[in-house]
Amino acid sequence: MGIVTVSRRGEDRIRSGHPWIYKSDVAKTDAQGGETVRVIGPRDRVLGHAFYSDRSEIGLRLLTRDDTPVDTALWRSRLTQAMGFRAALAIDGTAYRVVHGEADLLPSLIVDRYGDYLVVQALSQGTDRLMPELIPLLVELLKPAGILARNDPRVRLLEGLEQRVEVLYGTVPEQIEVLEGAVSYRVDPYRGQKTGLFLDQRENRKAAMQYARGRLLDAFSYNGGFALALAPRCDDVIAVDISEEAVARIRMNAERNGLTNVQARTMNVFDELRELERRGERFDTIVLDPPAFAKNKASVAKALSGYNEINLRALKLLTPGGFLITCSCSYNVSEADFADVLASAAVDARADVAVVEKRMQGRDHPVLMTVPETYYLKCFILRKLS
Ligand code: SAH
Repeated sequence: MGIVTVSRRGEDRIRSGHPWIYKSDVAKTDAQGGETVRVIGPRDRVLGHAFYSDRSEIGLRLLTRDDTPVDTALWRSRLTQAMGFRAALAIDGTAYRVVHGEADLLPSLIVDRYGDYLVVQALSQGTDRLMPELIPLLVELLKPAGILARNDPRVRLLEGLEQRVEVLYGTVPEQIEVLEGAVSYRVDPYRGQKTGLFLDQRENRKAAMQYARGRLLDAFSYNGGFALALAPRCDDVIAVDISEEAVARIRMNAERNGLTNVQARTMNVFDELRELERRGERFDTIVLDPPAFAKNKASVAKALSGYNEINLRALKLLTPGGFLITCSCSYNVSEADFADVLASAAVDARADVAVVEKRMQGRDHPVLMTVPETYYLKCFILRKLS
């Protein structure tokens, strides 16, 4: 087993509970990229075990904080714990996240379940190298009909890994049918965004069902997540997405579910909100679920102004008594930052607004207490009073 020695600062960081050690805090390495290594402090004390990367800025991803052996038994136990937690959530659906990386003590590993199939992502050299050991365990524990590796996220490039989509076990069809509550979806695991669906919004879609009514605008709709879940409670629904492919899927999924009140439009939401305002249209429920506007720290200011603009316009389009379900999935924008943006949007829209619920990513995407950035998805449910 390889050995990596960290500096005093690296040791302090491990003690503070963070699972990542940056390259700059690595003092000495006697290991290969992707290896599971023993981590030693400056005074030769064993601090734990970690995945070592020889390319990423994140040099070490901690697996254990003591000298317990890192072997198949440990992987099995971690996977079993992750599965047990999801089982306890009694998820009303057949698509959900089984393993959420660091927050399941399996750093940089994603496992999503879509019915009988699994979609996995290995986001570091460590998990990439471990795949041949993990796949048989996933087969044994979850008994899937097939496993697809969606190893196309760009973060893999930072690890010096190629972007590749491949079937690692059994067969995986082009379209998988899954259920989320009462809605049946057809998902494309090979080409869909993320691993096919935005599973992290499942619980927020369900929460939104309590408030949705009247005329609904679902902005940034993707495959129709919110639109389809809320349509049975609304008179009519407009779902907007910039991607033609996504809009075709909204239509297909609406039809499959017998929802005749959903109209899908291929539009830029920024333009569409302006146009709806110009025409004096009004909505009783609006969902805003944009992509991460702040992809890095440098783009935070611009992101905040984007969030301000769409929320301001949505609040103007909302009827008094109406609900705004508004989200940000930028991990660089904190809950407090987002709340500030929403408050100033309310002032700019001259609307009195109450917070009905503050929510986050679904519980199958846990937040790690010591890593605030893992709280990436914020979702506020607001009510316009006047
Ligand atoms: N609400 C969805 C997930 C939305 S993901 C769900 O519950 O499943 C964000 C979506 O915004 C993507 O589908 C992307 O195509 C779309 N998008 C990005 N920029 C856009 C823009 N300017 N106008 C409209 N849609 C946009």
